[in-house]
Amino acid sequence: MRALTLENHLQFQANHAQPRSGDGECLVRVRLAGICATDLQLVNGYMRFRGILGHEFVGVVESGSSSWQGKRVVCEINCVCRACDMCLSGLANHCRKRTVLGIDGRDGCFADFICVPEANLHEVPDALTDEQAVFVEPLAAAYQTLSQYPFGPKTKATVIGSGRLGLLVTQVLATTGCKLTVIGRNEVKLSLAEKRGVQAVHVDELVCRGDHDVVVECTGSPAGFDLATRLVRPRGSIVLKSTYAGEQGVNLASVVVNEITVLGSRCGLFSEALDALVREAVEVRSMITRTFPIDQAMEAMASAARPEHLKVLLDMRK
Ligand SMILES: [Zn+2]
Ligand SMILES: [Zn+2]
Repeated sequence: MRALTLENHLQFQANHAQPRSGDGECLVRVRLAGICATDLQLVNGYMRFRGILGHEFVGVVESGSSSWQGKRVVCEINCVCRACDMCLSGLANHCRKRTVLGIDGRDGCFADFICVPEANLHEVPDALTDEQAVFVEPLAAAYQTLSQYPFGPKTKATVIGSGRLGLLVTQVLATTGCKLTVIGRNEVKLSLAEKRGVQAVHVDELVCRGDHDVVVECTGSPAGFDLATRLVRPRGSIVLKSTYAGEQGVNLASVVVNEITVLGSRCGLFSEALDALVREAVEVRSMITRTFPIDQAMEAMASAARPEHLKVLLDMRK
């Protein structure tokens, strides 16, 4: 099968061995996959990952359990033991023995086929296109923000970063009716937020008054964190929503002086993301800037790293 692998370097392989599903697993034929910032960080050494990249996808179950066969699915990325203290306390995403698709100890979805635990699958409603369903994983992560902070109409909230994750988080927060601003550098991307009725501000035109209740940092950079500490009010909260690779030289003094709550935020519920897409509470199609056939996966990864691009997809359907 075709696959994009990361060993000592990134490589497209036209004849990679097809995976075989183990107990409780299904073999899924991947239809469409999304490239995210984490994939780009992995190539730069994050998690020291080796194997097939990719964790955002929609596909059709090829073999495994008969109840899933032929169904179009999306798949949660954390593969868990269901027996450790975290799993037993209902925090399976923090399983101490977990592997994570295309990120930690398990092959990912930038390939024609992937093996995944049956328990991780969610059927995709017919109302959704592949191009919408491929956003379920990052959209679920965006929804996780709502489960960690009580956003409401009175909340003054800011999203830092108008990239693929920032724009998803922006749309999700907008559904709460909070007073929302998104901060970015790219006028085209900021205009996508404005089209959804969200105030968009270029970072160069920003005035920091230290009066925001909550700031969601979606750039994964020390500069983004620093900006968040200047925007947030005393006793406010900062949500870190991006992948932070390597050591971050951040100044924590203002976190202490202003008694800021810093919240890490990762994966969320797929059911919420599927429901939001079906209700059209969140619009994702305008975020797709390029789709490449899997054979051009190397070019696709290079494109995804360029600032003018939002979501770049890999197409395995042909
Ligand atoms: Zn991702
Ligand atoms: Zn566990």
